[in-house]
Amino acid sequence: MTRVFNFSAGPAVLPLEVLQQAAAEMTDWHGSGMSVMEMSHRGEEFMSIHAAALRDARELLAVPENYKILFLQGGGLGQNAIVPMNLLGRKPQPAVVDFVQTGSWTTKSLNEARKYCTVNIAASSAASKFTTIPPRDMWKLSKDAAYVHICTNETIDGVEYHFTPDVGDVPLVADMSSHILARQVDVSKYGVIFGGAQKNIGPAGLTLVIVREDLIGHALSICPSAFDWKVIAENNSMFNTPPTYAIYIAGLVFQWLKRQGGVAAMEQRNIAKAALLYDYLDASGFYQNRVAGDCRSRMNVPFYLRDDALNTAFLAGAKERGLLQLKGHKSVGGMRASLYNAMPIEGVQALVAYLKEFETKNG
Ligand SMILES: *Cc1c(COP(=O)(O)O)cnc(C)c1O
Repeated sequence: MTRVFNFSAGPAVLPLEVLQQAAAEMTDWHGSGMSVMEMSHRGEEFMSIHAAALRDARELLAVPENYKILFLQGGGLGQNAIVPMNLLGRKPQPAVVDFVQTGSWTTKSLNEARKYCTVNIAASSAASKFTTIPPRDMWKLSKDAAYVHICTNETIDGVEYHFTPDVGDVPLVADMSSHILARQVDVSKYGVIFGGAQKNIGPAGLTLVIVREDLIGHALSICPSAFDWKVIAENNSMFNTPPTYAIYIAGLVFQWLKRQGGVAAMEQRNIAKAALLYDYLDASGFYQNRVAGDCRSRMNVPFYLRDDALNTAFLAGAKERGLLQLKGHKSVGGMRASLYNAMPIEGVQALVAYLKEFETKNG
């Protein structure tokens, strides 16, 4: 097998060890004679997989006792509707929600929320083409918002919060889809944290939601039961059939993370990986990252070649060297390297070596 490095933004690279273990267990999980895919979600075998995944997620993220961890479906985009349907009932309707617009994902979130509430854009970095994060003292929060929505890592634009904003008693809701488990987080500062699994947790199909208990039980009557956090919590995330195989793989990733030293150790590695790439890009006159230094994402690094006409040749050469899925999102163009937990430093070293080689040849 040729070694490749997969820089996809999502679905994304998984630890090879995890894939190998899943392959070895594919047709016969722990002597059960069954694949995990074939098991009843209420059977003893799968219940043990499910319980271990929940326990490990709680341990890795240091989730306090007064928070529930829910396994849902519907992805990050699903939560854009599920969050308002669950939180707005705490206020008279129509309620106001504050959004901090920092890129493509918060833009999608606030547009979806308009179906359910009055949207206040408390701050926006649209004028900087989403290369900055508005500092907290610039936010114009509403008097009586139901919650404040932020995206702590904008996967497409490559901006990341390196601070936790204080919004007082109003619940802070964070879309952490693309950097959950990549850095330490003080969960107690948030009301709700959510993330689709396919960036940094496991396969697509599973959505992780961490919610403070007092925020559960206020769903609007229009909220589907399968997405009502109270119903999900009361049924231990088994109200309807959960995405069993995705939960199993996520569980293997959690065990892998624990063997790596947990989130604190991953964070140190992620800092080193990102520094290697940004330092090279900054020193080069041939490539450019346009994000302000204090809000650059450690996970998703968009960059541009000085001459767009070289993009096709750049990507072809990268592919020849096993450096895959570097094309930038269609809405912003250029290139993007995603450096999730499962991307080893060797992948970033190989990318930087190729960047140098291509620059020498074409610069
Ligand atoms: C990928 C992503 C989403 C969308 O996830 P889906 O699973 O496709 O719904 C939402 N928010 C962020 C920050 C993402 O990176």
